[in-house]
Amino acid sequence: MNDMTNFTKIKDIGEFGLIRRIGELTSHSLPSGFTGIGDDCAIIPGSLGAQYAVSTDLLVEGVHFVKSEIGGRDLGYKSLAVNLSDLAAAGATPCGAFLSLALPEDTDVEFVDEFSKGFDEISKAYGCPLLGGDTTGSKSGIVVNVCVIGHRGKNATVSRSGSKPGDIICVTGALGDSGAGLEYVLNPALERDEIAVELIKRHHRPVPRVEEGKFLAQRPEAHSMMDISDGVASDLPHILERSSVSAEVELENLPVSDLLQNKYGSQPSKLYHYALHGGEDYELLLTVDSRYYADLSAGFEKKFGKPLCAIGRIVAGDECKARYIENGFGMMPGGAPWSHFC
Ligand code: ADP
Ligand code: MG
Repeated sequence: MNDMTNFTKIKDIGEFGLIRRIGELTSHSLPSGFTGIGDDCAIIPGSLGAQYAVSTDLLVEGVHFVKSEIGGRDLGYKSLAVNLSDLAAAGATPCGAFLSLALPEDTDVEFVDEFSKGFDEISKAYGCPLLGGDTTGSKSGIVVNVCVIGHRGKNATVSRSGSKPGDIICVTGALGDSGAGLEYVLNPALERDEIAVELIKRHHRPVPRVEEGKFLAQRPEAHSMMDISDGVASDLPHILERSSVSAEVELENLPVSDLLQNKYGSQPSKLYHYALHGGEDYELLLTVDSRYYADLSAGFEKKFGKPLCAIGRIVAGDECKARYIENGFGMMPGGAPWSHFC
């Protein structure tokens, strides 16, 4: 008998145990060229080698956002932004989006108007029109689901599963701002200076790295890629597991913004905590063939005006674990990874 049946509550098996279980109970072999559960996007083959990338994300009041803090406009913006980030991870160009809303009956129409304006703002900026959706009532809080569809050329094959020992682990931008902003959202009594206001903005208005993803996904030396939604400490293991490798990450190399540096520069453990565990930065995390890293990074910097930050390397080891190093010494930074269920 499968020992998973001993558990009765989803908090016992966690989000990924639950997804695995759903996948096992519904599995059937996929047609050639399809990719299903396990990556940022599912891939559906089109004609002439083109591929469609599809992804969906839920935002639930009280779990993913505090309504009074985020407001309608930023919620609309963020709902699409986090989905576009999954298309970015697959190197796909957005085609369109579907929006489903479950709303308590006493929700102000103005809130939904503002939501629609925020959604429209990012939809126009990224060329991702709203194509449909569903609307219903809710007995407890707002639930937002967005599904996005994108397309990519036949040369873009990047997924979470191609990393090889020796690869350089990179990120496309600063980490930790969003997590530091969340701290203020969850603790309204904390005094908010100008930096705090900016950090909260980073949390409510993430920038999906769609152009960066398209650029990187076309390069065969980019072996694996995903977006950082839960923090490097939670997300890197997905690449490691899908690729059957391990990793070493140098904490001093984690890029942080000037904002975070100004606020917590004298407390390195706090900086490392936000950069590794903060989550919701929606930068891209990728591993690159070390022989071509310098070239790729130079090309990336020329196009995007910022470096491709190397934070560590992939090593052999099918235990699929990351070892964190500070000043040459191995250590395990504290802080529990993000979980929706405990
Ligand atoms: P992301 O953070 O990139 O949105 P998730 O961590 O939410 O990805 O999901 C990981 C993988 O599990 C994805 O491939 C996603 O499509 C799949 N997945 C998540 N929830 C379910 C579900 N309820 N049924 C089927 N697949 C799911
Ligand atoms: Mg993702």
